[in-house]
Amino acid sequence: MNRACLRSCVALSLILSLFGQRSWASPSALSCLLAAYPEFLKSSSVANAVQSRQGEVFVFDASLPTQSHQWRLDHADLKSQLEQAYPREPLAEPPAVDFDPGRLRSAPFFERMYGKTLSQVQEHMVSVHWAPCKCRIQFSKRNGAAAALEKVGQALVDRPELQIYVSRPLGSLNWRSIQGTQRRSMHAYGVAVDFHLPKSVHHYWQWSGCKSGTACPYPAAVLKDERLQEVVKVFESHGFIWGGKWHHFDTVHFEFRPELIGPACGQ
Ligand SMILES: [Zn+2]
Repeated sequence: MNRACLRSCVALSLILSLFGQRSWASPSALSCLLAAYPEFLKSSSVANAVQSRQGEVFVFDASLPTQSHQWRLDHADLKSQLEQAYPREPLAEPPAVDFDPGRLRSAPFFERMYGKTLSQVQEHMVSVHWAPCKCRIQFSKRNGAAAALEKVGQALVDRPELQIYVSRPLGSLNWRSIQGTQRRSMHAYGVAVDFHLPKSVHHYWQWSGCKSGTACPYPAAVLKDERLQEVVKVFESHGFIWGGKWHHFDTVHFEFRPELIGPACGQ
């Protein structure tokens, strides 16, 4: 932007945003992100962006072209990350095709927050006491994630009817990409944990023979399992989302995503 343009262009941007011609970040979206990730973000005066405490700027709305769901998964900006509202209530029916709230993730945002390399990620890892099995789970302490996981375990330990769902962790930190993609898994950042579930509700869309871009039949037993839904509620109350609410379902997977479910991120 040259000097002559500076004032008029800024003014034009403001006018356009006031009249909804540009879908820049709403104040509520920005305050939600700030509240969700207080250790990483600080208030920013930069329009259409959030700013890390180290001064890095992350554009909120990158004006992405309309593309397929698959393309959007690979190129998500912060706006698309918040676009699909994560349902707070148990699902009454299978998620609609490509309804995957939480699977759209801005890769640069999470990389900078949790670490771009395994050694950077490991700097934030702590060993959480997981009360249901009196065992330990490695988890990132960034933004209170590890503390939130420990609280989930404490809330579940006195529920004997739920132990079958949460007493066998399958893994948390795992420096890897999502199966069949170049995208980093949230396990790589140490903010996701899987559990061995009873066979009837232990499902991952790719294990079910489903392919990207095609409708995938949702496992009916998952919707009917009220005890599993109780477990999910406890996780959600501490800032975790559950992969069982995705069309591309991953019922064993819980991930710390307070920007989708936290109290400052009302839906
Ligand atoms: Zn997982």
